[in-house]
Amino acid sequence: MTKAVVIGSGISGLTVAALLAKAGREVLVLEKKPLAGGALHRFKRQKIPFDVGFHYTGNLGPDDFTRRLWRYLGVEPLLDIVPFPEDGYDHVYIHGRAQPLQASFSYESLTAHLNEQFPAEQQAIARYFAAVQEICADVPFYDLDLPLTPFLQGLGTRHQSLADFLNSITSNQELQAILSLPTFLYGVPVSRARFDVHAMVAHSYYMGAYTIANGGQAIVDSHLHVLAQLGVEVRTSVEVESIEDDNGKISGVRVNDEFISCSEVVFSGHPAAMLGLVNNDFFRPAYIDRLHNLENTMSLYALFGRLPAGPALDALQWHNFYSMPSGPAEFSDFMTSSPQHRGLMLSRPGHCDSQSLSGKAEGVIMLAPASWQQMASFHDSSHNSRSVEYAAFKEQLAEAMIDHAAQIWGDEYRAIEPLAVGTPLTFRDELSAPQGACYGAMHCLGQYNPGVRTKLPGLMLSGQSTLMTGVVGAAFSGLVTAGEMIGLEQLWEDVKQCH
Ligand SMILES: Cc1cc2nc3c(=O)[nH]c(=O)nc-3n(C[C@H](O)[C@H](O)[C@H](O)COP(=O)(O)OP(=O)(O)OC[C@H]3O[C@@H](n4cnc5c(N)ncnc54)[C@H](O)[C@@H]3O)c2cc1C
Repeated sequence: MTKAVVIGSGISGLTVAALLAKAGREVLVLEKKPLAGGALHRFKRQKIPFDVGFHYTGNLGPDDFTRRLWRYLGVEPLLDIVPFPEDGYDHVYIHGRAQPLQASFSYESLTAHLNEQFPAEQQAIARYFAAVQEICADVPFYDLDLPLTPFLQGLGTRHQSLADFLNSITSNQELQAILSLPTFLYGVPVSRARFDVHAMVAHSYYMGAYTIANGGQAIVDSHLHVLAQLGVEVRTSVEVESIEDDNGKISGVRVNDEFISCSEVVFSGHPAAMLGLVNNDFFRPAYIDRLHNLENTMSLYALFGRLPAGPALDALQWHNFYSMPSGPAEFSDFMTSSPQHRGLMLSRPGHCDSQSLSGKAEGVIMLAPASWQQMASFHDSSHNSRSVEYAAFKEQLAEAMIDHAAQIWGDEYRAIEPLAVGTPLTFRDELSAPQGACYGAMHCLGQYNPGVRTKLPGLMLSGQSTLMTGVVGAAFSGLVTAGEMIGLEQLWEDVKQCH
């Protein structure tokens, strides 16, 4: 048996590990944090559960790719996957516009709503949705009958920008704002967004949004359960310090004082961090430069708080609230931008958790764009050595977020009590995300993200920075990584058969 070590236990690492083990590999997962799951883990404050990196996703319909993958792995029966109901939608407040917009999770109702709100723009709206669907008609994870390899070879070769596309169909700034809303879900400002990436992410939400009882933690737990059944050990609080080779062949990994021998390694953290672990002689200078210079997605400020039961909390059930500036989303830092340029998302974790359905859960989460530069004076700190000034900054941040929410959505939201506040430093230190980048390296114009293969035989990459971001994108990258190791088209065929 080949021993494969998977570094990182986010959704991509868990997916690779399960697929390899199912194919008969002996697999070991090593995670540097005390808890498995990477961005998907949940934490509690005052008994209220909060998700970090999973609020909702598309692509979980009964026949969708992710669902088939989870069926193939045996995790599907362990999950309670719940579609947002027909009257669930993103409630989008665009600065300066009297009426909020409803971004529904269906092409039909979203089109009808936008046509009603922008009667003079019906042609532009039709052109946008037709173009998104046309791109996605060639994407294998939307049409599993398509072969995977040509798609992967073509990834990154389309260069139309989202901004150019939007400008070509409309000059209406409010319409541009709502059509660019999905950029928030992959963390690229419109000026850098590629229309094909945008279409792939947006399409999955336009086809239907889903959540899962007990949130991201349920996804993690289901995978851990299956891994245990497959005999895969997942060791936490173990940071891999180096990946060793023997004359150009992977020989093992080093953790603390232990050497673990293996012949294959999958690194699922940020690709630039992989360079620090391995002998770089195997890589071309251009590749090393490329990984070192990967531009990262936006970071976020996060407020995890309590909102007492009542109408303000009820209004968030099956609705995510967004506040956006008019015009294409550019993600200026919440703390440095003027109120009319501030972006903010307010949501309620676990729409379908039993606590939430019984009205007992009082948790709310606010997310706002943040820049790494804004945190410059705190960069040298670590999570157990933050300064008094940093605590004061977080306090000020929480106040500003609550104030902004109250100004937009009503004074009832002033009652939000902050229980935890995250900044780009939190994401850097808790998720090992360089610059606190929430969605890894940008999939954007002018950037070629690394593929899953490396020049060092036996060393593979996986994760959100490689092929695609988000839970679906990272799981997809896990499938491709495992597929490159055990036979990609056959694995694709096997997953496809799980309908
Ligand atoms: C605030 C926030 C909100 C989000 N909301 C959504 C959402 O609503 N829907 C959605 O689809 N996506 C969302 N995302 C994105 C989604 O969570 C991620 O794209 C996805 O979970 C990334 O998975 P991954 O496996 O690529 O990486 P990660 O989950 O980051 O896993 C990588 C793991 O590798 C470990 N690691 C790194 N280096 C080492 C080492 N040397 N040794 C051992 N372990 C190591 C890290 O500790 C980490 O656990 C959100 C993300 C954030 C941060």
